[in-house]
Amino acid sequence: MFTIIDLTYARCPLPFLSDELIQKITEVRADGKKCLLFFNRRWSARTLICKDCGYQFLCERCDLAMIVHTSPTRRLLCHHCSAESEIPHSCPKCHGTNLNSIGFGIQKIEENLKKLFPEARIARIDSDKKRSDGIQFQEISEAEILLSTEMGNTLSIEWIELVAFLLLESEIAVPEYDIEEKIYTNIAYNARKGSDIYIQTFAPKSDLVKNITEGNYRDFLIHTLAERKTFSYPPYKELVHIWVRDPSKERIKDIIYKLRNKLEILKTPEVELYFDKELFTKRNNEYGQKIVLKGDNLSPLLVEIEKEIFRNRGVSLERK
Ligand SMILES: [Zn+2]
Ligand SMILES: [Zn+2]
Repeated sequence: MFTIIDLTYARCPLPFLSDELIQKITEVRADGKKCLLFFNRRWSARTLICKDCGYQFLCERCDLAMIVHTSPTRRLLCHHCSAESEIPHSCPKCHGTNLNSIGFGIQKIEENLKKLFPEARIARIDSDKKRSDGIQFQEISEAEILLSTEMGNTLSIEWIELVAFLLLESEIAVPEYDIEEKIYTNIAYNARKGSDIYIQTFAPKSDLVKNITEGNYRDFLIHTLAERKTFSYPPYKELVHIWVRDPSKERIKDIIYKLRNKLEILKTPEVELYFDKELFTKRNNEYGQKIVLKGDNLSPLLVEIEKEIFRNRGVSLERK
Protein backbone atom coordinates (compact mmCIF):
# COMPACT_ATOMS: atom_id res chain seq x y z
CA MET A 1 0.00 0.00 0.00
CA PHE A 2 2.87 2.41 0.82
CA THR A 3 5.73 2.90 -1.58
CA ILE A 4 8.58 5.11 -0.40
CA ILE A 5 10.85 6.46 -3.11
CA ASP A 6 14.25 7.75 -2.06
CA LEU A 7 14.93 10.76 -4.26
CA THR A 8 18.65 10.61 -3.56
CA TYR A 9 18.86 7.42 -5.62
CA ALA A 10 15.72 7.35 -7.79
CA ARG A 11 16.08 8.13 -11.47
CA CYS A 12 13.92 11.12 -12.34
CA PRO A 13 13.67 11.92 -16.06
CA LEU A 14 12.04 15.20 -14.97
CA PRO A 15 12.38 16.85 -11.55
CA PHE A 16 10.37 15.08 -8.83
CA LEU A 17 8.84 12.65 -11.33
CA SER A 18 10.62 9.35 -10.80
CA ASP A 19 10.56 6.39 -13.18
CA GLU A 20 8.68 4.34 -10.59
CA LEU A 21 6.01 6.98 -10.13
CA ILE A 22 5.61 7.57 -13.87
CA GLN A 23 5.15 3.82 -14.34
CA LYS A 24 2.47 3.76 -11.63
CA ILE A 25 0.60 6.75 -13.10
CA THR A 26 0.63 4.99 -16.48
CA GLU A 27 -0.90 1.86 -14.95
CA VAL A 28 -3.56 3.76 -13.03
CA ARG A 29 -4.59 5.65 -16.16
CA ALA A 30 -4.77 2.40 -18.11
CA ASP A 31 -7.28 1.16 -15.50
CA GLY A 32 -9.39 4.27 -16.02
CA LYS A 33 -8.74 5.53 -12.51
CA LYS A 34 -7.40 8.80 -11.12
CA CYS A 35 -4.17 10.03 -9.59
CA LEU A 36 -3.94 12.73 -6.96
CA LEU A 37 -0.49 14.29 -6.75
CA PHE A 38 0.63 16.70 -4.03
CA PHE A 39 3.30 19.28 -4.52
CA ASN A 40 3.22 22.31 -2.31
CA ARG A 41 2.97 25.62 -4.09
CA ARG A 42 4.85 27.34 -1.28
CA TRP A 43 7.90 25.20 -1.93
CA SER A 44 8.89 27.85 -4.42
CA ALA A 45 9.24 30.13 -1.40
CA ARG A 46 12.64 28.44 -1.10
CA THR A 47 13.37 26.50 2.01
CA LEU A 48 16.76 24.93 2.46
CA ILE A 49 17.26 21.18 2.72
CA CYS A 50 20.26 18.87 2.75
CA LYS A 51 20.07 16.55 -0.23
CA ASP A 52 22.25 13.97 1.50
CA CYS A 53 20.25 13.38 4.67
CA GLY A 54 17.01 15.36 4.21
CA TYR A 55 17.79 17.77 7.05
CA GLN A 56 15.67 20.91 6.91
CA PHE A 57 16.80 24.21 8.33
CA LEU A 58 14.32 25.23 11.02
CA CYS A 59 14.03 28.31 13.20
CA GLU A 60 15.54 27.56 16.61
CA ARG A 61 12.83 29.50 18.36
CA CYS A 62 9.76 28.37 16.38
CA ASP A 63 10.74 24.98 14.94
CA LEU A 64 9.38 26.13 11.57
CA ALA A 65 11.11 26.09 8.19
CA MET A 66 13.44 29.00 7.49
CA ILE A 67 13.01 30.66 4.10
CA VAL A 68 15.90 31.62 1.82
CA HIS A 69 15.93 35.32 0.93
CA THR A 70 18.27 36.77 -1.64
CA SER A 71 17.81 40.51 -1.29
CA PRO A 72 19.20 42.72 0.06
CA THR A 73 21.58 39.93 1.12
CA ARG A 74 21.38 36.15 1.01
CA ARG A 75 20.08 34.92 4.33
CA LEU A 76 17.65 32.60 6.04
CA LEU A 77 14.58 34.18 7.57
CA CYS A 78 11.82 32.81 9.79
CA HIS A 79 8.47 34.08 8.55
CA HIS A 80 7.00 33.54 11.97
CA CYS A 81 9.31 35.50 14.30
CA SER A 82 11.63 37.27 11.81
CA ALA A 83 14.73 35.52 13.19
CA GLU A 84 17.60 35.71 10.72
CA SER A 85 20.69 33.65 10.11
CA GLU A 86 23.40 33.32 7.51
CA ILE A 87 23.03 30.66 4.88
CA PRO A 88 25.18 27.76 6.09
CA HIS A 89 27.72 26.05 3.85
CA SER A 90 27.26 22.60 5.28
CA CYS A 91 24.62 20.46 6.93
CA PRO A 92 24.74 20.48 10.76
CA LYS A 93 23.54 16.89 10.85
CA CYS A 94 25.67 15.02 8.29
CA HIS A 95 28.23 17.75 7.45
CA GLY A 96 27.49 17.28 3.75
CA THR A 97 27.66 20.31 1.47
CA ASN A 98 24.91 19.29 -0.89
CA LEU A 99 22.43 21.93 0.30
CA ASN A 100 19.55 22.71 -1.95
CA SER A 101 17.14 25.58 -2.17
CA ILE A 102 15.73 25.12 -5.63
CA GLY A 103 12.61 27.17 -5.94
CA PHE A 104 10.79 24.74 -8.12
CA GLY A 105 7.26 25.85 -8.80
CA ILE A 106 4.07 23.97 -9.25
CA GLN A 107 3.63 25.38 -12.79
CA LYS A 108 6.80 23.61 -13.88
CA ILE A 109 5.51 20.31 -12.49
CA GLU A 110 2.28 20.79 -14.38
CA GLU A 111 4.15 21.52 -17.64
CA ASN A 112 6.29 18.42 -17.18
CA LEU A 113 3.27 16.23 -16.49
CA LYS A 114 1.77 17.47 -19.73
CA LYS A 115 4.98 16.53 -21.55
CA LEU A 116 4.92 13.03 -20.06
CA PHE A 117 1.20 12.47 -20.49
CA PRO A 118 0.12 14.62 -23.42
CA GLU A 119 -3.18 12.78 -23.74
CA ALA A 120 -4.17 13.04 -20.08
CA ARG A 121 -6.66 15.50 -18.67
CA ILE A 122 -4.76 17.30 -15.90
CA ALA A 123 -6.34 19.66 -13.39
CA ARG A 124 -4.63 21.81 -10.85
CA ILE A 125 -6.29 22.37 -7.49
CA ASP A 126 -4.96 25.61 -6.19
CA SER A 127 -6.21 27.58 -3.19
CA ASP A 128 -5.52 30.92 -4.89
CA LYS A 129 -7.43 29.78 -7.92
CA LYS A 130 -10.27 28.63 -5.69
CA ARG A 131 -10.57 32.07 -4.18
CA SER A 132 -10.27 34.07 -7.36
CA ASP A 133 -11.95 32.09 -10.13
CA GLY A 134 -13.97 29.56 -8.21
CA ILE A 135 -12.84 25.99 -8.52
CA GLN A 136 -13.85 24.25 -11.68
CA PHE A 137 -15.70 21.26 -10.34
CA GLN A 138 -16.30 19.83 -13.76
CA GLU A 139 -12.63 20.13 -14.61
CA ILE A 140 -11.79 18.23 -11.43
CA SER A 141 -14.33 15.50 -11.87
CA GLU A 142 -13.22 14.89 -15.45
CA ALA A 143 -9.48 15.02 -14.79
CA GLU A 144 -7.35 11.89 -14.74
CA ILE A 145 -4.42 13.52 -12.99
CA LEU A 146 -5.10 16.00 -10.21
CA LEU A 147 -2.29 18.17 -9.00
CA SER A 148 -2.96 19.64 -5.58
CA THR A 149 -0.95 22.54 -4.27
CA GLU A 150 -2.00 22.43 -0.65
CA MET A 151 -2.62 19.74 1.87
CA GLY A 152 -5.66 21.63 3.09
CA ASN A 153 -7.50 20.65 -0.06
CA THR A 154 -9.37 17.72 1.34
CA LEU A 155 -11.61 16.71 -1.47
CA SER A 156 -13.79 13.73 -1.76
CA ILE A 157 -13.12 12.54 -5.27
CA GLU A 158 -14.19 9.14 -6.53
CA TRP A 159 -11.87 6.63 -8.20
CA ILE A 160 -8.60 7.85 -6.73
CA GLU A 161 -6.28 4.91 -7.07
CA LEU A 162 -3.01 6.67 -6.43
CA VAL A 163 -2.10 9.41 -3.98
CA ALA A 164 1.47 10.60 -4.41
CA PHE A 165 3.63 13.16 -2.64
CA LEU A 166 6.12 14.33 -5.25
CA LEU A 167 8.37 15.74 -2.54
CA LEU A 168 7.29 15.18 1.04
CA GLU A 169 9.66 17.94 2.17
CA SER A 170 7.66 20.48 0.18
CA GLU A 171 4.76 19.79 2.52
CA ILE A 172 6.81 19.72 5.71
CA ALA A 173 8.46 23.00 4.75
CA VAL A 174 5.22 24.91 5.17
CA PRO A 175 5.83 27.13 8.19
CA GLU A 176 2.88 25.97 10.27
CA TYR A 177 3.32 24.29 13.64
CA ASP A 178 0.73 21.58 12.91
CA ILE A 179 1.84 20.71 9.37
CA GLU A 180 3.08 17.22 10.27
CA GLU A 181 -0.26 16.41 11.85
CA LYS A 182 -2.05 17.56 8.67
CA ILE A 183 0.24 15.37 6.55
CA TYR A 184 -0.31 12.40 8.84
CA THR A 185 -4.10 12.70 8.85
CA ASN A 186 -4.30 13.36 5.12
CA ILE A 187 -2.24 10.28 4.32
CA ALA A 188 -4.10 8.13 6.86
CA TYR A 189 -7.42 9.26 5.36
CA ASN A 190 -6.36 8.30 1.83
CA ALA A 191 -4.82 5.04 2.98
CA ARG A 192 -8.08 4.10 4.70
CA LYS A 193 -9.96 4.70 1.46
CA GLY A 194 -7.72 2.09 -0.13
CA SER A 195 -5.56 4.31 -2.34
CA ASP A 196 -1.97 3.36 -3.05
CA ILE A 197 0.29 5.93 -1.41
CA TYR A 198 3.60 6.91 -3.01
CA ILE A 199 5.91 9.12 -1.00
CA GLN A 200 8.96 10.64 -2.65
CA THR A 201 11.47 12.09 -0.22
CA PHE A 202 15.14 12.76 0.44
CA ALA A 203 14.67 11.45 3.99
CA PRO A 204 13.02 8.03 3.74
CA LYS A 205 14.22 7.06 7.21
CA SER A 206 12.71 10.04 9.05
CA ASP A 207 10.45 9.49 12.06
CA LEU A 208 7.51 10.98 10.18
CA VAL A 209 7.84 8.54 7.26
CA LYS A 210 8.31 5.68 9.68
CA ASN A 211 5.20 6.56 11.70
CA ILE A 212 3.13 7.08 8.57
CA THR A 213 4.03 3.77 6.95
CA GLU A 214 3.64 1.84 10.19
CA GLY A 215 0.36 3.62 10.93
CA ASN A 216 1.81 4.32 14.34
CA TYR A 217 -0.40 7.16 15.53
CA ARG A 218 0.55 6.67 19.17
CA ASP A 219 4.27 7.26 18.56
CA PHE A 220 3.43 10.11 16.23
CA LEU A 221 1.28 11.73 18.91
CA ILE A 222 3.85 11.34 21.68
CA HIS A 223 6.57 12.83 19.47
CA THR A 224 4.35 15.68 18.24
CA LEU A 225 3.06 16.65 21.68
CA ALA A 226 6.58 16.68 23.13
CA GLU A 227 7.68 19.01 20.33
CA ARG A 228 4.72 21.32 20.82
CA LYS A 229 5.39 21.53 24.52
CA THR A 230 9.05 22.41 23.93
CA PHE A 231 8.18 25.16 21.45
CA SER A 232 5.06 26.40 23.29
CA TYR A 233 2.45 25.61 20.68
CA PRO A 234 -1.18 24.52 21.10
CA PRO A 235 -2.53 22.64 22.97
CA TYR A 236 0.00 23.95 25.54
CA LYS A 237 -0.25 27.62 24.59
CA GLU A 238 -2.73 29.67 22.62
CA LEU A 239 -1.53 30.88 19.23
CA VAL A 240 -3.13 33.72 17.31
CA HIS A 241 -2.24 35.41 14.03
CA ILE A 242 -3.49 38.91 13.45
CA TRP A 243 -3.41 39.64 9.74
CA VAL A 244 -3.52 43.03 8.08
CA ARG A 245 -4.26 42.88 4.38
CA ASP A 246 -4.51 45.77 1.96
CA PRO A 247 -3.35 46.82 -1.51
CA SER A 248 -1.30 49.60 0.13
CA LYS A 249 1.88 48.69 2.00
CA GLU A 250 1.85 52.07 3.73
CA ARG A 251 -1.58 51.51 5.21
CA ILE A 252 -0.53 48.06 6.44
CA LYS A 253 2.57 49.52 8.08
CA ASP A 254 0.49 52.14 9.87
CA ILE A 255 -2.02 49.64 11.20
CA ILE A 256 0.62 47.11 12.26
CA TYR A 257 2.51 49.86 14.08
CA LYS A 258 -0.63 50.97 15.92
CA LEU A 259 -1.69 47.43 16.82
CA ARG A 260 1.75 46.48 17.99
CA ASN A 261 2.06 49.44 20.33
CA LYS A 262 -1.35 48.74 21.75
CA LEU A 263 -0.58 45.06 22.31
CA GLU A 264 2.81 45.76 23.85
CA ILE A 265 1.11 47.96 26.46
CA LEU A 266 -1.78 45.60 27.18
CA LYS A 267 -0.06 42.24 27.17
CA THR A 268 1.35 40.48 30.21
CA PRO A 269 5.12 39.78 30.12
CA GLU A 270 4.48 36.06 29.54
CA VAL A 271 2.74 36.66 26.23
CA GLU A 272 5.16 36.42 23.30
CA LEU A 273 4.61 38.85 20.47
CA TYR A 274 6.27 38.59 17.07
CA PHE A 275 5.64 40.47 13.89
CA ASP A 276 6.89 40.42 10.36
CA LYS A 277 9.30 43.31 10.06
CA GLU A 278 9.39 44.47 6.48
CA LEU A 279 7.97 41.27 5.25
CA PHE A 280 4.96 41.21 3.00
CA THR A 281 3.22 38.31 1.40
CA LYS A 282 1.25 39.05 -1.72
CA ARG A 283 -1.91 37.24 -2.70
CA ASN A 284 -4.64 38.29 -5.04
CA ASN A 285 -3.12 41.77 -5.42
CA GLU A 286 -3.18 42.43 -1.71
CA TYR A 287 -0.22 42.63 0.59
CA GLY A 288 -0.39 40.99 3.97
CA GLN A 289 1.58 41.29 7.16
CA LYS A 290 0.96 39.55 10.44
CA ILE A 291 1.46 39.81 14.18
CA VAL A 292 1.86 36.56 16.10
CA LEU A 293 0.70 36.20 19.70
CA LYS A 294 1.59 33.20 21.81
CA GLY A 295 0.75 32.62 25.47
CA ASP A 296 -1.87 31.75 28.05
CA ASN A 297 -5.27 33.38 28.30
CA LEU A 298 -5.10 35.67 25.28
CA SER A 299 -8.83 36.43 25.45
CA PRO A 300 -8.59 39.93 27.04
CA LEU A 301 -6.15 40.96 24.30
CA LEU A 302 -8.34 39.52 21.60
CA VAL A 303 -11.29 41.63 22.77
CA GLU A 304 -9.17 44.68 22.00
CA ILE A 305 -8.25 43.28 18.60
CA GLU A 306 -11.92 42.64 17.82
CA LYS A 307 -12.49 46.38 18.34
CA GLU A 308 -9.72 47.16 15.85
CA ILE A 309 -11.28 44.79 13.36
CA PHE A 310 -14.44 46.89 13.50
CA ARG A 311 -12.48 50.10 13.07
CA ASN A 312 -10.09 48.98 10.34
CA ARG A 313 -10.90 47.25 7.10
CA GLY A 314 -8.43 44.50 6.27
CA VAL A 315 -7.66 43.39 9.84
CA SER A 316 -8.50 39.80 10.66
CA LEU A 317 -7.82 37.27 13.36
CA GLU A 318 -6.89 33.62 13.01
CA ARG A 319 -6.91 31.39 16.05
CA LYS A 320 -4.56 28.50 15.41
ZN1 LIG B 1 22.71 16.45 5.82
ZN1 LIG C 1 11.08 31.77 14.24
